[in-house]
This record gives sequence, C-alpha cells and structure tokens, in this order.
Amino acid sequence: MMLELRKICKTYLQGRMEVPVLRDISLSVNEGEYLAIMGPSGSGKTTLMNIIGCLDNPTSGEYLLEGEDISGLNDAKMSEVRLHSIGFVFQSFYLLSRQSALDNVALPLLYAGVHRRERQDMARQALERVGLGDRTNFKPTQLSGGQCQRVAIARAIVNSPKILLADEPTGALDTKSGEQIMEIFQRLNEEGVTIVMITHEPEIAAHAKRTLHIRDGSLVDGRGRLLTPMKPEAFEEMEEASPALAQEGGFDTPIPTTVEELFPQDGQ
Ligand code: ADP
Ligand code: MG
Repeated sequence: MMLELRKICKTYLQGRMEVPVLRDISLSVNEGEYLAIMGPSGSGKTTLMNIIGCLDNPTSGEYLLEGEDISGLNDAKMSEVRLHSIGFVFQSFYLLSRQSALDNVALPLLYAGVHRRERQDMARQALERVGLGDRTNFKPTQLSGGQCQRVAIARAIVNSPKILLADEPTGALDTKSGEQIMEIFQRLNEEGVTIVMITHEPEIAAHAKRTLHIRDGSLVDGRGRLLTPMKPEAFEEMEEASPALAQEGGFDTPIPTTVEELFPQDGQ
C-alpha cells in the first residue's frame, strides 16, 4: 500500500465556529495507481491534497505513508517526507520567474543537499523526460503555459518521488496543452509513479485508472455511494430506496452528499 487515510477529518475554526471541511475520509492508494479525485469548487479537494502531500495536518484520523504513521509528524519531519517522497504539480505552476527552467527544476535538489554538478545533470534529465531538453535556459516568461507546467512536472519528478500529486494540473491550460500534460502523466505512471490528480474536468479525470468524487468533504464513488465504511445491507437498502443510484453512474449522475439524502426514510 502506498498510502492510506483512515477517518481523516479536517475542521477549520472560523471565529468560534468549527467548520468541517473533510469528514471521515478513508482512502487507500496502491503503489502504481493513477487516481483522479473530482469535485466541485469548495468541496475540499485542495485541503485533501494538502494533507496527502504533508503540507497540512489533519484535525483527526490516521495517515499511513508506505505503512508508516505520519499523521503526527512535526513540520521538519513533514518537509523531509515531502522532499524525498512526494512531487507536487499545481494549477498555477509556481515557478521562479527570473530563474531558468534548469534552475527551477534543480531547486528541490538544492534543498536535498545535492552538489551543483549533479543537480544540473539531474535537472537536465528531468527536462528531457518532459520533452523540454531544448529549453533548459529559457525563463518561464519565455515559455508557453503548457511548457511552464512541463517544467513544473520536471521539478516534481527530479528527485524520483514515489507519488506525484497534482491539483488541477490542466486548470490554467488550453485543451491541447492539457492533453500533452496527460500524456506525460500517462508515461510517468507506466514507469511506476503513483499519481493522485485532482480535477473538476471529466475529460481529464478519464485519463486516470480510478476516479473518486468528493462532495462537501466526503468521498463518494461514481454511483454516489459514500465511501465511509458501511454495512453491505445499507447499500442494498439504498439501492431499493433510490433506483437512480443503482444505475451505472456517469459524471452527471446527481450525487447525494448527505446521509439524509442517501437514507430518506431513517436518516442515521
Ligand atoms: P476545493 O479545492 O475543492 O475548491 P478547498 O479544499 O480549497 O476546496 O476548500 C474547502 C473548504 O474549506 C472551502 O469552504 C474553504 O472556504 C474552506 N477552507 C479552505 N482553507 C481554509 C482555511 N485555511 N481556513 C478556513 N477555511 C478554509
Ligand atoms: Mg482547490
């Protein structure tokens, strides 16, 4: 198992009000998986990704990364995990605009204490893997959006992370550039990189091997079933109660988000 979330909750304090953003998220991701998580704006996607990426701690619940419980780690330990195990790709690239593509890609290696010569070799190789071997000296302002995102991917994979996390990686790109990014993800996944990608675009999610949906802080599958542990009988009751839920769920199947919607008679 690459990573496992057990009953993860995240609650923000808004003044004195507690606002639940993630509710009881349980999720297992195997090594080599390519998972897409879809959900509307505000449903908790980025919050979830920040927890998976060790950028933030959950309020409660357990997080196992390669079998090791990391939910209680301090900041220093978390950045250690990020540095060596996780690569990030964001919607808005986050490149240093005055640095060359090569220097941008080499940056994580600087933090990892890799020597200059080796940094440059590794960065060049990473840029070649995303098809930018001929753009190493270009600055972000001299590159297209799609090329910038490929630089960001090169930076994410430069220290060979086991997991690549992407939050709306094609959100700022045109369709064609987006497809190029998806081709790169496909290739990385074939090479063994585990990918968790967040998107609200069905065409992008379709590239993943598995898709989950998040609604209002809870994970549901394509049929609108809550992915919190429930007894099998509960699913059967649900199908009887709502025939629409039993049919194969496409992306446009309305997805109930509350237990009350799922169990109209008895609530829970
Ligand atoms: P998404 O990425 O799906 O659009 P987010 O995970 O960014 O959603 O946010 C989910 C909810 O959590 C939103 O209602 C947002 O306002 C709230 N939220 C996110 N970050 C914070 C924060 N630091 N403090 C308070 N509320 C937050
Ligand atoms: Mg977001």
